[in-house]
Amino acid sequence: MIIAIYPGSFDPVTNGHLDIIHRSSRLFDKVIVSVGRQVSKVPLFSASERVEMLQAVTADLPNVEVESFDGLLAHYVREREANVVVRGLRAISDFDYEFQLALAIKKLDENIETLFMMTNSEYSFLSSSIVKEIASYGGCVQGLVPPYVAEKLRYRYQKNN
Ligand code: ADP
Repeated sequence: MIIAIYPGSFDPVTNGHLDIIHRSSRLFDKVIVSVGRQVSKVPLFSASERVEMLQAVTADLPNVEVESFDGLLAHYVREREANVVVRGLRAISDFDYEFQLALAIKKLDENIETLFMMTNSEYSFLSSSIVKEIASYGGCVQGLVPPYVAEKLRYRYQKNN
């Protein structure tokens, strides 16, 4: 049984993330989407809100689970008895950090493989930060995030203003 972990901030989940989740769910027996609880930047949505949004938008995928984690990714992966870490790659600019992360994981546990999936060209520019920037000024995020997430963003920024 191959269990893959797809870790990230998912603040919030975008259609780019969702595309990686859909494609991974076809490749692995089980995919655990794991929301990092400790982020250096202050998140817009709490870890439990991010988990809840991910659960809502992946409810149609029976082999996908969502949870949050903290601590070292390599330790967490071992704890969940997973063998693979999935990450998405958009542009060259992603490469440097992703390369470092993959090598750090390998150093901590050589049995874990990090696999990269190329972004869908439609989403190559898409990031949670861009989505937040657009939503914070009242711009339309249709097509960038699932409608459920668009609604949460609208509500969050209305409350903040
Ligand atoms: P992190 O803060 O760990 O980078 P993110 O939530 O920003 O977390 O992203 C999680 C993973 O998803 C990363 O591997 C990132 O490169 C990937 N990702 C983000 N947006 C996209 C996208 N539009 N297409 C493909 N992969 C993406």
